[in-house]
Amino acid sequence: MNYINSPIEQITFNSRKYFIKRDDLLHKDFSGNKARKLYYFLKNDFPNIKKVVSHGSAQSNAMYSLSVLCKIKDLSFDYYVDHIASFLKENPSGNYKYALENKMNIIDAELPKTFEEDTLFISEGGAVSEACFGIEILANEIISWANENKIENLKIFLPSGTGTTALYLQKYLPFEVLTCACVGDEDYLKKQFNMLEKENHPTIIKAEKKYHFGKLYKEFYKIHNELLTQTNIEFDFLYDSLGWICLEKYLETLQEKDFEILYIHQGGILGNISMLERYKNKYGSI
Ligand SMILES: *Cc1c(COP(=O)(O)O)cnc(C)c1O
Repeated sequence: MNYINSPIEQITFNSRKYFIKRDDLLHKDFSGNKARKLYYFLKNDFPNIKKVVSHGSAQSNAMYSLSVLCKIKDLSFDYYVDHIASFLKENPSGNYKYALENKMNIIDAELPKTFEEDTLFISEGGAVSEACFGIEILANEIISWANENKIENLKIFLPSGTGTTALYLQKYLPFEVLTCACVGDEDYLKKQFNMLEKENHPTIIKAEKKYHFGKLYKEFYKIHNELLTQTNIEFDFLYDSLGWICLEKYLETLQEKDFEILYIHQGGILGNISMLERYKNKYGSI
C-alpha cells in the first residue's frame, strides 16, 4: 500500500478562509492520523513478529487502523478493553464492527504486564516514538505545498488526543503548530508531549469550558453540522468539533491576522456513525 500525498483544499467557514489538509482522504481503508502514526509499521518488515497487542476504547479510531495494519501484514491482533458496552457488543457498529471484520480479537480484561517475544505492543492511540516516521512525511507534504504556493506565514491547527501528531508536526515544521486538548486537560497534554520530546512543543489553545471526552454537547453537534453544510466536508465529532470551537475563539481574539491557517483533517469518520446516532437521539436532526 502506497500513499499518495493527500490533497489540500481551500474552504470558507463562517466567512473565514482556511486550508484543509485532507488526510481523511489518504486511503480508503487506512487514513487519518492513525495511518500516519502507524506508517512505520506498515512500511517495515518485522519477520519475528506474529502478533500486535494494543488497548483502549472499543470505539477507537486507532483500534480500527491497527486492525487494518494487522490484516495487511497478516498478523494476529489482540485488543484489550476495560469495558465494552453491552449495546455495542450486541449491535456492532463503526470502528468496532469493521475491526471485528478484520479479525481483531477483543479481550475484556486487564492488559498483561509482559508479552511474548513475537508480540509487538503499541500503546493506546498509537502514542509511540515510531509515529514520527509517518508524521515527518506529512510535514514534508505541507512544506512542499507552502513553497509551491509561496505561503510564508502559515500556522497549522489540529486537535489533540495523545498529542503525538501535533508534537511531531511541530518537530518537523518551520511553522507554529496550534492545538487543543480534547482528552484530559492542558496539563495532561503537556505531560504527553514531555514523554516523547522535552522541547519544541506545540502551542496549546485553551477551551473556554471543560469538556469530557466522548460526551455529547449541543455546540459540538451544531458546529459539526455547520461545517458540513458550509464546506461539504464531514469532520469527526470527538476531536474536530472542539478543535473548530477553539480555533474560531482563538482567531476572534486576534487584532489582525497576518497568516494563513492549515487545518489538518485527521480522519475518524468511521467513528461518527455511532456518535451521530447518539446526537440524533438526544437533540434530533438539526
Ligand atoms: C486519534 C485522533 C486524534 C488525536 O491524535 P493524537 O495524535 O493522539 O493527538 C485527533 N483526531 C482524530 C480524528 C483522531 O482519530
